[in-house]
Amino acid sequence: MTVGILGGGQLARMIALAGIPLGQEFIVLDPSAEAGAVRLSRLLQGAYDDPALLEKMAQQASIVTYEFENVPASAAEYLTAHTTIYPPAKALQTAQDRLVEKQHFQSLGIQTAPFAAVDNLNDLTQAMSSIGYPAILKSRRMGYDGKGQVVIQSAGELADAWQAMQDAPSIVEGFIPFQREVSIIAVRRANGDTVFYPLSENTHKGGILRVAHCQADDPQQIAAENYVSKLMESLDYVGTIALELFDVNGQLIANEFAPRVHNSGHWTIEGSETSQFENHLRAILDLPLGSTQSVGYSAMVNFIGDVPPEASVLAIPHAHLHLYDKLPRKGRKVAHATIRCDDERQFNDSLNALHALATQFDDS
Ligand code: AMP
Repeated sequence: MTVGILGGGQLARMIALAGIPLGQEFIVLDPSAEAGAVRLSRLLQGAYDDPALLEKMAQQASIVTYEFENVPASAAEYLTAHTTIYPPAKALQTAQDRLVEKQHFQSLGIQTAPFAAVDNLNDLTQAMSSIGYPAILKSRRMGYDGKGQVVIQSAGELADAWQAMQDAPSIVEGFIPFQREVSIIAVRRANGDTVFYPLSENTHKGGILRVAHCQADDPQQIAAENYVSKLMESLDYVGTIALELFDVNGQLIANEFAPRVHNSGHWTIEGSETSQFENHLRAILDLPLGSTQSVGYSAMVNFIGDVPPEASVLAIPHAHLHLYDKLPRKGRKVAHATIRCDDERQFNDSLNALHALATQFDDS
């Protein structure tokens, strides 16, 4: 069977790596001939909304999925009409707009930060009387890795903050004084079968994920599973999903979800019996889902901007390196490494060593 993927970056590459043993072939649509998945798939090179390329995709792929949520609406509509696209278009539409997303959480009884829609400076000024300082102003669309966001500390910063948004429809949110950020990754099949991975505790710097650490027996596991179950059911979800949450004094507050495989689940390649990538394929191909049982302790560290020499990563006991075939560039995720180990002390030693190495090469 041929699986089509919109986007040919590292997520598509890891989906293909998981799918080849299952006998799948891949075709990716990406503007770049150097995209990370092209070694493992056929490439349709061009714009995501190019009608001729979408037609080819619909003809050549039995099922289409995507590795990023900013898929143009016209592409999602075309593929929905001409083939099967999973996760369903409704999940994309909800995740693409931070306001729609937060309203959707609210309608399901999923806690969020206080928020308000902002289309001009007047809206922003009025909203702040109920939201309070500090707050974060975010563009409703096309934001990722902290891009299109401004923190507002006081009323004197409102005009500059609004100007920075360049009139983009926005949302203002109360700043959540969280103790930690976590995400839950879950996978649902069309018949409703669902599996959950253990929570991942995530550390960000400059809005970019740095470390994702698998949490065994986390006290918030069940609460997170309840939230993500409601979310998946409401969207008739099929595939892997990631729900990002703030933990504030033991209470979970939803920040956003990604209707796709997610960076905070890369440790599942070595750290789980079945990875998020393989389970994504099993779900969209309507195959039985695999066990999400953890295999020892695991955590992942991203390499941002540049990658250390392979030998220095692989010299760390229990390290597994994943290169993305991407050219070094400031702030760009170019590779990651996972530590997986049965012994807790050895695991911590290796994770500390990997973290120190990644920090040394981190250019941001
Ligand atoms: P986002 O693009 O919404 O994932 O935001 C990127 C990062 O900014 C998050 O991972 C948090 O570290 C931080 N952040 C976003 N929204 C809030 C909020 N309402 N309160 C506190 N921190 C936030």
